[in-house]
Amino acid sequence: MSSQTPPKGILSAMFGMRCPSCRKSFVFKNRSIFPFSQTTALKETCEECGQKLISEKNNGAGMNYALTMVIFLLNIIWFVPLYKYFDPHKELHWYDSADQSVWWYLGTSTFVVVVMQPWLMRMSRMVYLYLYVGFGASEN
Ligand SMILES: [Zn+2]
Repeated sequence: MSSQTPPKGILSAMFGMRCPSCRKSFVFKNRSIFPFSQTTALKETCEECGQKLISEKNNGAGMNYALTMVIFLLNIIWFVPLYKYFDPHKELHWYDSADQSVWWYLGTSTFVVVVMQPWLMRMSRMVYLYLYVGFGASEN
């Protein structure tokens, strides 16, 4: 390793989208989410430690299924606080036409998830990388 800075914690490294092995180098080709066609494009290997980031394990046939499940779970993380915000006293009723809060909840949830989608896709890839590549894996 060329840098002497201590490695980040696992959560800050994962949310900072750093290499799962050394937790230093940014793993995506572009810092920005644009262009959308390159949003989830990973570098071949980590620039810092040489850890292979694209492999059969994380880019194989089951990848789409796994990413879909992770995105689904990440979306739920957004839905719960929004639900709590629109329904602080647990009075939200689907059948009450006078109470429009359920539509505000559904509309806001959909809007947030659509706007957050590029970052959710990146986070799903990060979760997957962190599940399969352990810390210090490149040193083995
Ligand atoms: Zn690395």
